[in-house]
This record gives sequence, C-alpha cells and structure tokens, in this order.
Amino acid sequence: MYDWLIVGAGFAGSVLAERLATERNERALLIDRRNHIGGNAYDRYDDNGLLIHQYGPHIFHTNSKQIFDYLSRFTEWRFYEHRVLAEVDGMQVPIPINLDTVNKLYGLNLTSEQLQDWFAERAEKIGEIRTSEDVVVSTVGRELYEKFFRGYTRKQWGLDPSELDKSVTSRVPTRTNRDDRYFTDEFQFMPKHGYTRMFEKMVSNPNIHIMTQTDYEDIRHIVPHRRVIYTGPIDEYFNYQFGKLPYRSLRFEHVTLNKLWHQSVGVVNYPQTHDYTRVTEYKHLTGQEHAKTALTYEYPSAEGDPYYPIPKPENQELFKKYERLALATPDVWFVGRLATYRYYNMDQIVGQALATFRRINEALPVGADT
Ligand code: FAD
Repeated sequence: MYDWLIVGAGFAGSVLAERLATERNERALLIDRRNHIGGNAYDRYDDNGLLIHQYGPHIFHTNSKQIFDYLSRFTEWRFYEHRVLAEVDGMQVPIPINLDTVNKLYGLNLTSEQLQDWFAERAEKIGEIRTSEDVVVSTVGRELYEKFFRGYTRKQWGLDPSELDKSVTSRVPTRTNRDDRYFTDEFQFMPKHGYTRMFEKMVSNPNIHIMTQTDYEDIRHIVPHRRVIYTGPIDEYFNYQFGKLPYRSLRFEHVTLNKLWHQSVGVVNYPQTHDYTRVTEYKHLTGQEHAKTALTYEYPSAEGDPYYPIPKPENQELFKKYERLALATPDVWFVGRLATYRYYNMDQIVGQALATFRRINEALPVGADT
C-alpha cells in the first residue's frame, strides 16, 4: 500500500514526492507516462555528448530565496544570465526592446531620456488595455509592435495579438536603458550538471518508487494507494466531460553542427522570417565546452503535447468548470501547470508544490490515519 500515488514526475510531482518521503516518511509511487523523469525540464546528452533540453530551453530564474535554497539541496549551480536577440529587418538586436535595440535598428544615437520621448511620441492612446496588441501598441507604438510582436505572436499562437489576453505580451518588458538581460530576477542560474541530475537527486529517497512509461489510467485500479497527487491535464482526469482545454503545442528539431558556435547568444528569435520562432544554442546556457554545438529549432503547432494553455476568457471559464469538480474530489490533490491550466515558470511550480505540501500537513497531521 502506497501512501501516495503521484502522477507526473516533473517539478510538481517530484518536489511533492521528495517532501512527503523526507518530511513525513511516507511511501510514494511516482509515475510518468514518458520514458524519463523531469517533465518538460528534462535534459539529456545527445549522440555527440552535448547536453540538450528535450522540450526547449529551460532557464531557471527566481526572486524567491526560499525556492532557490530548496533546490540548492539537490544541485550546485552555474551563474547564467539569459540574453536573447531578435532578427529584425536583417539585423540581430536585443529583445526585450532597449536603448541599443532602437539605436541600432534606426541608426540613431538617442540617450535614455530621449528614448522615453521617442516611445511617447509613438505610443497610441488606448482606453482599456485588454489584448496583447493593446499592451505593446500603447507602450512603443505600432511600428515596433509590427516588427517584433505581431508576426512572432501569430506564429507562436496561431492567433493575432488582438485576439490574445494582455498577459501574453505583458511578460516582455520595454526598457529605456541598455540592460539586455532577458530576466532581471535576483537568482539566475542553471543546474551545474543539468536538470535531470537535479531531479535524480531530488527523488533518490528510498521511500520513493519510480515507474516511467506508466500511465495513470493503466494502474489506478491496480496499485493500492491512499491518496493521489495529480499533475497531469485536469480535463483528461475528468474524461474531457466538458470538452478539451485548448493548448498550443511545439515541434522541436534538435540539430548538431560540426562547428564551435552558431550564434552569439543562447536564443535568437525570428519574428519576421522562417516557420520556426526561435533557435537555442545550448552551450551558452550550459557552459559546456565541446568542438561541436547543439541547437533546437522550435516550430509552433496546433497538434501535439500540451505546452501553452491558450489565454482566452472562454478557456478560463472551461477550466473553472473542471476546477469545481477537482475541489469536490476527495483525496486527490491537483498541482502543476497542466492540472491548474496556466503557464507557470519552474520556480512558480516549485512554490506551488511547497505550498501544497504545507496544506497537506495542515489537512493531514502525520500519523493520523496510520
Ligand atoms: P510538467 O513538467 O509538464 O510535468 C508533468 C508530467 O506529468 C509530464 O512529464 C507528463 O508526462 C506527466 N503526465 C501527465 N499526465 C500523465 C498521466 N495520465 N500519467 C502519467 N504521467 C502523466 N520555465 C522556466 O522557469 N524557465 C524557462 O526558461 C522555461 N522554458 C519553457 C520552455 C517551453 C518550451 C515550455 C513549454 C515551458 C517552459 N517553462 C520554463 C515552464 C516549465 O516547463 C514548467 O514550469 C514546468 O515544467 C512545470 O512543471 P510541472 O511538473 O507542472 O509539469
């Protein structure tokens, strides 16, 4: 008899398995339908010995010391500040848009103060900011919106920014200084030996039994267990009874080149050209020294694994219906990005899992049912 059947071995499931096994000395069966642990953060060595991220680039960043300290129990870190360039009008310029982006693109020599005025002259007045288009057009104007955001968003989401919630482009700031870091969080690091090694250490407690290539549906009635932590898609758990929650998917093309470097930064975005949205070169992220270099091209698609919940009000309504069912389901805890139908960064999922652990402790004092 397992105390917990934990569905999904990504951050949500693995953090909870670790906490329950370590702090409550409870036995957990941690399963994943994929053939590996780590969820979407899984990384592996390719045939040439280059460390790559199977599901696209994952850069760890957080402002939470608590979350950083917790993960530091399972890994050493490599300092890494992420930088991204966008190829626009044949030039590669920093994104988020900053002083250098505008100066380079338009052959100007503006100061930070002058750039503020430059943006103000172009920003359009919009009554109520509702969509992704509104956010950008009201900050930097229509021309930069067209160059950097419109095409990229249409490729990424298959929708025009005017059809998407403001949250999508609100994630990308605009700067009038020369800061070209993609993130400004206090802690920006990569796990020194990769994410998979970190996960292996996290779930190494003998109270945790791991089964990969195992679907919840196939074992739920066979393996005796007291309670469930479910980190899979919430609509799937309830047999899609209200309909499917829409997701945007990606196809990843992993390529190894027989040269030292391909691009000058970790990620280059392509808002105007090509079918792919961006190209990642992992050696920038991992610090690995190797004569060859590994890249990933990302092609957005409607079909495939669920990656990005599509942020539209009607989809949230649908999710709320499933959430009501989840709240009324005893002994099952729904955690993680797929069970809560929202785009979360890794640190947010770790925070969500740690908060769930605290709620479990409150609801189920240790030893109460044994
Ligand atoms: P997941 O990692 O998806 O884990 C859920 C697991 O459950 C999966 O492995 C799945 O196979 C398994 N599962 C589902 N249903 C079942 C079932 N019925 N039976 C068995 N197993 C099941 N975050 C950052 O902080 N920085 C980044 O740079 C970053 N980049 C990203 C890039 C891309 C392309 C994507 C898609 C996401 C990125 N993220 C990034 C977000 C990050 O991937 C998530 O925050 C994190 O993976 C969520 O962890 P999770 O455990 O909730 O879900």
